[in-house]
Amino acid sequence: MKVTLTGTGSPIPDPNRAGPSTLVQCAGQNILIDCGRGVAMRLAAAGVPVPFLSAILITHLHSDHITDLNDVVTTRWILTPEATPTVVYGPPGTQKVVDGMMAMLTPDQKYRHDHHADLRSGPGMQVVVHEVSPGDEFKIGDARVIVGRTDHRPVTPTIGFRIEAEGKSVVLAGDTVPCSELDDLCRGADIYVQTVLRPDLIELVKQFVPALASRSNDILDYHSSVEDAAKTAARAGVKTLMLTHYVPAMQPGQEADWLALATPHFTGKIVLGPDLTAAEA
Ligand SMILES: [Zn+2]
Ligand SMILES: [Zn+2]
Repeated sequence: MKVTLTGTGSPIPDPNRAGPSTLVQCAGQNILIDCGRGVAMRLAAAGVPVPFLSAILITHLHSDHITDLNDVVTTRWILTPEATPTVVYGPPGTQKVVDGMMAMLTPDQKYRHDHHADLRSGPGMQVVVHEVSPGDEFKIGDARVIVGRTDHRPVTPTIGFRIEAEGKSVVLAGDTVPCSELDDLCRGADIYVQTVLRPDLIELVKQFVPALASRSNDILDYHSSVEDAAKTAARAGVKTLMLTHYVPAMQPGQEADWLALATPHFTGKIVLGPDLTAAEA
């Protein structure tokens, strides 16, 4: 099982960090979790071009986590020799978002149909959406996926995923504060991937940009801090903690500072770094 951070950024545009997304490769499957800014480019860099994706899992419908879903769907359609539907699993509301996205893509579909006979004769650009809720389970090939509740209120519904295959397990928590359901989902996992922020750095941002102080305060109460993620990892007894979705963006040379916040709370392996940082279980 290999987990690659295909995007470690956040809603804040960064020259070096794509928006949030993670690639899980296991049991012959390429499973993408979330579709942030630039994901198709990072998938190419990871050696898994978009047509080779098995399925896409969406943790929640915040823009930074879905902004490039349209790119993935279109790219997959036009680059797959014999197109098959893109399969998306997400929380309730995903179908409505995908319907709107498909409406947005209508002109492009027509242009390509008009120009490419082989695209016209194929099944077309199709997305099969499965809306899933906490407690649901499903299979992607031989990989088993368990859906868990997360807490990113007032954003709701939000879900996390536990993927199990070949005796290994990874949890993709998405944006959430610590909660007992997340602990349960993570219990004993080989790898736990958590989106995090740094309240201490956000405090500095507030001082430099007072006009954004109120908005900066708002984001603190519905994300895990680095310390929170480390404590969740320890409570759940995971082997490896992967941190991603760095808010604010982790600058080169700051890695040790971020690690130092986590290590007092979690003695397992901690992985963080630039886009395409990977861990194996
Ligand atoms: Zn979010
Ligand atoms: Zn986010």
